[in-house]
Amino acid sequence: MNIYPWQDDLWKRLVPPLPHALLLKGRSGIGKLDFADYLAQSLLCESPLQDGKACNACVSCSWFANACHPDFRRIEPESELTESGRKVRQITIDQIRSLAGFMNLSTHRNGYRIVLIHPAEAMNTHAANALLKTLEEPSGKSLFLLVSHKPHQILPTILSRCQAIAMPFPGPAEAEKWLRGQGISEPAPYLSEAGQAPLVALHLAGEDPSLRERFLQEIASPSSLDAVAVAEIFQKTDLSMILRWLQKWCHDLASCAFSGKIRYFPDLSDKIMEVSRKSDKFELMRFQRTLLEAQKISIHPVNARLFLEELVLNYISLTVK
Ligand SMILES: [Zn+2]
Repeated sequence: MNIYPWQDDLWKRLVPPLPHALLLKGRSGIGKLDFADYLAQSLLCESPLQDGKACNACVSCSWFANACHPDFRRIEPESELTESGRKVRQITIDQIRSLAGFMNLSTHRNGYRIVLIHPAEAMNTHAANALLKTLEEPSGKSLFLLVSHKPHQILPTILSRCQAIAMPFPGPAEAEKWLRGQGISEPAPYLSEAGQAPLVALHLAGEDPSLRERFLQEIASPSSLDAVAVAEIFQKTDLSMILRWLQKWCHDLASCAFSGKIRYFPDLSDKIMEVSRKSDKFELMRFQRTLLEAQKISIHPVNARLFLEELVLNYISLTVK
């Protein structure tokens, strides 16, 4: 484990003593969580290197690698049923309360006691209020690491008790270089599709490109698009992935219509311009909201084939004049 090259400068600036609570904020897919993890491991390490980085060899580092370090807690959302019976992923008050014992114990190795909360915006109000009490009475060498890409959704009273760090992200050249180092020989199209977020680009490159190409090819010709056939072909595919492709495609169509800009699929700009010209741009914007809603139920659709067929028919109706 190590940090990403675009985080090197930040690492040098983070000199102990650190405040009791840090908020690592920034867009998705730039390595905030990995950085938080590495910072925690390094602060807990018993023989850190000269630059403060973890040695990856001591008992503490091996505990950390095995997710069993007694002075470290990771709080992530658990699924909960709401009153309407819908499942949402939240960080609950019980999860925050369970920290009480941990915060009051003396640490095992007489060092830091670290709590990582990710994503911090997933705390519901009760959980956030419970955390507030703990943040107001910091004990000993404790450190809270809050990681968030939606800091505006966190209670202001919590924000005011954290030192915020805007997490850096790489420029295009640095991102491309890093992706090549990960074995992606042609990173540029993935980076465009990922909105320049390197970790998202890496994930996209791992998706089956032939499947994506095939899907894009189909929807790039809406006038000859056969919704039944497309649903048949892609019903066994990860639906949230298909939805993401369709969302990005429709974003490009709308954006091209309104401002001439193409963000995700610059390679297909000719096709996008052509389809965009024939589309109803306001309907396209409405359709994007439909797709967002669809994304929520895409994990467990009642019938994947019908689900896809309906979406594709909807898409055809607004792209064919
Ligand atoms: Zn170590």
